[in-house]
Amino acid sequence: MQLMRVYFCGVRGSSPAPGVEFARYGGHTSCLALAHDQDAAPTLVLDAGIGVQRVSALMNGAPFTGTILLTHLHWDHTLGLPLFAAADRDDAHVNVLLPEQESGLDATSVLSVMMAPPFYPIGPTELRGEWTFATLTPGERRIEGFDVLAREIPHKGGRMFGYRISDGHSTLTYMPDHCPTAFGLGEDGFGDYHAAALELAHDADVLVHDAQLFPPEFPEQARFGHAVADYAVGLARHAGARSVALFHHRPDRTDDALDGLAQRLGGGSPAVTVADEALVLEL
Ligand SMILES: [Zn+2]
Ligand SMILES: [Zn+2]
Repeated sequence: MQLMRVYFCGVRGSSPAPGVEFARYGGHTSCLALAHDQDAAPTLVLDAGIGVQRVSALMNGAPFTGTILLTHLHWDHTLGLPLFAAADRDDAHVNVLLPEQESGLDATSVLSVMMAPPFYPIGPTELRGEWTFATLTPGERRIEGFDVLAREIPHKGGRMFGYRISDGHSTLTYMPDHCPTAFGLGEDGFGDYHAAALELAHDADVLVHDAQLFPPEFPEQARFGHAVADYAVGLARHAGARSVALFHHRPDRTDDALDGLAQRLGGGSPAVTVADEALVLEL
């Protein structure tokens, strides 16, 4: 039977969260790894927060051969790029895709802004193996045997794409950072269920979505570019998504606080999971 296997390798947003009070949900920043079936190695990696370090353990000693698809270029989605051991070796083949930049800089040039001395010892083209870097525009394309739809969604500080990824059998929607209040408060008061978000999440098996904020923080912090967890559940309901994985937890959100979130929003329909680093979904 065909299935899509989804490894949650980093579920944290903004910055890593080391420490015993974060150990159960995990402290690595955003990264998902997708494989076409149970036994195969991942070939499509979504974002390269430092969670991408954990993808190497899924490769069984083999080099990474596949695509790293970035939603945007904030540190919590890119700092792992040079730290992905299975990709930084002579026999690796890596294709990095990122949103076309408003500045017009090509993919290598814009990554070189972050990865260059004195901020970092090497640039993106100095990684070992065969690496290619390219930008992409909104729309549909086929990547590593998956159908991928990219749509621009509001965030803050740079262009951000959400992705809808299907293997012809199952669909995963990935919107790790999302500021839906950019289009107004919407009917539930947590942000607009706008067309791009609804299109990406329509009928998805799982919606992996920004859950950075809790409702008491919302009035003060929504302007920093993130969504409240309740919005993710509301979007899934409006879009007909079957389940939600709450993702991109704030770095000071303890395990106890995330347990509380699971209790508060779980138990209904659609099914809600608070993502942790041990989560593996088979869709
Ligand atoms: Zn982020
Ligand atoms: Zn961001």
